[in-house]
Amino acid sequence: MLQNPVSRALASTGLLVLFLALAFLGAWIPADAKLWELRFGAANRLPSGEVIFVDIDSASLAEVGIWPWPRSLHARLLDQLMAMGAYEVAFDIDFSTTSSPTEDAAFAASLERAGGYAYLAAFRQVSAAGVEVWSRPLALFAQFTQAALVNVDGLEAGMVWSLPGQNASQDLKSIAAHFSFGKTVPESLHIDYSIDLTRVVRVPASAVLDGSVDPRLIVNRQVVIGASAIELHDLLLVPRFGVVPGPIVHIAAAETVRQDRALVDLGFWPAAGLAVLFVSGSLLLPRLNLGWAVGVSVAASIALEAVTGTLFARHALQIDTSLFHALVAGILVIRLLEDRAVRRQQLRQYHQRLEYLAHHDEQTGALSPSAWCAEVTKTGMQMKALLLRLEQVEATGASLGFAVTDQVVSLFYRRLLAATDLPIGRIESYVFAIAVPETVVEDQLRGHLSQLEAPFDVGGHLVVLPVRYGLSGARAGRTAEATLQDARTALAMAVGRDLDGCAYQPAFDAEMQHRRALDIALRSAIEKEELDIAFQLQVDTRTRQTTGAEALLRWNSAELGRVSPADFIPLAEDNGTIIRLGNWVLHESCRRAMAIGWDGRLSVNVAPAQFEGSDIVAMVQSALVETGFPAHMLDIEVTESSIAGGEGSIIDALAALRELGVSIAIDDFGTGHSSLSHLASLPVDKLKIDMSFVRQITTARGAQMATTITELGTKLGLSIVVEGVESEAEFAFFADLGCDTVQGYLFSRPGPLPASSIVQSAA
Ligand code: C2E
Ligand code: MG
Ligand code: MG
Repeated sequence: MLQNPVSRALASTGLLVLFLALAFLGAWIPADAKLWELRFGAANRLPSGEVIFVDIDSASLAEVGIWPWPRSLHARLLDQLMAMGAYEVAFDIDFSTTSSPTEDAAFAASLERAGGYAYLAAFRQVSAAGVEVWSRPLALFAQFTQAALVNVDGLEAGMVWSLPGQNASQDLKSIAAHFSFGKTVPESLHIDYSIDLTRVVRVPASAVLDGSVDPRLIVNRQVVIGASAIELHDLLLVPRFGVVPGPIVHIAAAETVRQDRALVDLGFWPAAGLAVLFVSGSLLLPRLNLGWAVGVSVAASIALEAVTGTLFARHALQIDTSLFHALVAGILVIRLLEDRAVRRQQLRQYHQRLEYLAHHDEQTGALSPSAWCAEVTKTGMQMKALLLRLEQVEATGASLGFAVTDQVVSLFYRRLLAATDLPIGRIESYVFAIAVPETVVEDQLRGHLSQLEAPFDVGGHLVVLPVRYGLSGARAGRTAEATLQDARTALAMAVGRDLDGCAYQPAFDAEMQHRRALDIALRSAIEKEELDIAFQLQVDTRTRQTTGAEALLRWNSAELGRVSPADFIPLAEDNGTIIRLGNWVLHESCRRAMAIGWDGRLSVNVAPAQFEGSDIVAMVQSALVETGFPAHMLDIEVTESSIAGGEGSIIDALAALRELGVSIAIDDFGTGHSSLSHLASLPVDKLKIDMSFVRQITTARGAQMATTITELGTKLGLSIVVEGVESEAEFAFFADLGCDTVQGYLFSRPGPLPASSIVQSAA
C-alpha cells in the first residue's frame, strides 16, 4: 500500500496538513515549552543586579502579624529604602482601595517624599460577568506617583512567557518600562528566561524595616516590592524556574529590557516553512536508503536546533521548532512503515516462491516427485506411473550447448502437458513422470512415444532424442509413491538391459537389489584383491600349437562369490569402474606374462568406456613400458559395437595403438551393427568370429554365414580368430575355411598362464 509513490505523497502531505492544523490548535505548545526551557537553560546569562526584590516573605508577614499591612508600614519601608539610597521603588501591591485616613495619609506623605521615584501597581481584571475593570492607585497616592502595569499575559502551557510592556489606551507602563527610561518597550514584552532569576538579589522586607540589611544592596538599585509569601497567592509559573513570586516576573521583564533581550516571537511559521520544504524534498529528491534517511532527518533537526539556538542567543529571536521535529519524525515513521511493508511483501513473495519450489521444478514448472505423488493421490484414481526419460541429453548438450538441451527439456515438458491432463512430475534431470490409466499396457505406449520423440526445433537446431520409458504395475490399492518406485525400477531395468522401455515385474526388485549389491562390492574389488585373470589359449589351426592367450577378468567377491564377467562388466561400464578394472587387467596380464616367461601373443579386452573416459593409448603404453612386454605381441580386443559408430576419436586411438606396434582385433564380430563395407576403412588387424556363428554351422544357412564372414575378412587381409570352438567338427570346419586361429574349450578352459606357449601343444 505504502510502497507506491502516490500513496507515499498522500501520506506525507496528509501528515503535513494534520501537523499544521495541530499547530494552529496549539497542540505543539507543551513540546515547544520544554524545548524553550532547555534553550533558556543552555543560554544562561546573569541578571544585571541593578533590579532587586524586596520580599514580603512569610517571615516579614509573621513579624507584623496582619495583612494587609497598615499603610504606615509601607510608608516606613519606602522611607527606609529611599534613605538607604534606592534609585526607584515599584510596589507590586494593590493600593486601589482606601484603608484608614491616617494610614493612607502617612503613605501619601512617604510617596511625596520619594519625589516621583515610587510606582504603584495598576492592573486589569475581568469580572465574573466578563466586564473589564481597571484597578489604579487611589487618587490620593496617584498625585505623587505613577501607576505601573503589573498584569501578565495569557498563559501558554500554564506558564508566563510575556507581559504587557505598556498599554497605550490606558496610558500605562509596566514596571520594566518605568525602570528602563529612554528605551522603547513593546506592547507585549517577551521575557528572556535565559536570565538566571535565582541570582536576582532578594531582600526580606523585615530586614529593610529593622535596618539589618546591608545598605550596599540597596544603594542606587531599582527595587520591586512584592510578596513571595504563599499566603498572598501572588505566585506564577514560568519556564525554566517553575513557580516564582509575581514580582520576580517583573524583575525578569525589567532585566530583559535592560539587557536588550526583549524576544521577538516568530512562532511556528519558520519551522512550518522548513517542514514544507522537507516534505517536498523527501518526495521529490532521489530516494535515500533507510540509514541515510535517518541520518539526514536527524541532521535536519539538529541543524534547525543549532540555527534556532544561534538566532535566540544573538538576535533574541524565538522560533518554535517542535512542529518541524514532529514532522521529520513522522516522515521517518512513514518511511519505516513503508520499508516494513516492502519487506513484508518481499518476505511473502519469497515464501510463496519457496512454497512453489518445494513442490515444483524451477526450470519447467513440473511437480516435484513428492508433489506429483500427492496430486496423483488426490485424483483418487487407480493409475499406473509412466516414467519417460530423455536419452542422450548429456552428449547432445556437450556438442550443442546445454542451453539448447535445457530448452529441449522444457519443450518436452510442454509436449507432455499437451498430451495429458493428469499431473506431470519431474523426477530427475531428464526423467518425467505421468499417470496413465491402469489398463494401459506397453504395446499401447509405442505410438505415443514416437510422437514424443519428434524432432525438437531449438533456434534452428533440429534435435532428436530417444525416449526410454519405465511403466509401473497396477496400483491396486498401493500408494502413488510405491507405484512411482515400480516405474523407476522398470526404467532402471530398461537402462541396464539397453531396452527402449520396460514394464515392471516383481522379479526386477530382486535383480535391482542384486545389481546394487554388485555395484557396491565392485567398487572395492581391486583394493580387496578379489580380482584375478584367467588366460584362454589360442591355437594355430595348421600346427595345433599354442600361439597366444586371451586375458579374461575374474572376480571372486567375498560377499557375492564368483561373479560372471557377463554380469559385472556391463555394470562396471555403467558405473565407470571399468576404467580402473581395464587398466588393472592390462598391467597385470602383461606383468604375469613377463614374470612367467610367456613367449606367445597376449590378447586384452578393452571396453568402449575406456576409449571415451580415459586415454587408452597412454595406458597401453605405460603397461608396455612398466612391464617390458613387447608391443608387437599384444592384441587389443575391441567390441564391434564400440567402433560401430565410427567415431573419429576411437578410430584415432586405434590408429595410435597400431603405431605403438600393437594389433587390433574386433571381438564378437557379427553380433554388432557395423556394416561390412565399413570394415575396410578401419585400422584393425584381426576379426574374432563370435561363437554364436560356431554354434550355427550345423545349419546350411549358419555354415554359409560363417563362410561369408571368413572370406570377407581374409579378402581384407585380416587374420581370423574363431571363438568358442568346442568340438573337433567345429575345428575342422573353420580350419578348412582357412581361419588362422581358434580359441575354445576344445583346447583350453580359461586358467593360469603356462610358462611357455610351446609347451602347450595340440590336445
Ligand atoms: P569375450 O572377450 O568374447 O571372451 C570370450 C568369452 O567366451 C569368455 O567368457 C570365455 O570364457 C568364453 N569361452 C571361451 N571358449 C568358450 C567355449 O568353447 N564355449 C563357451 N561357451 N564359452 C567359451 P568370459 O570369461 O565369461 O567373458 C565374457 C566376456 O566378458 C568377454 O567376452 C569379454 O567381452 C568380457 N571380458 C572378460 N574380461 C574382460 C576384461 O578384462 N575387459 C573387458 N573389457 N571385458 C572383459
Ligand atoms: Mg574377448
Ligand atoms: Mg568374444
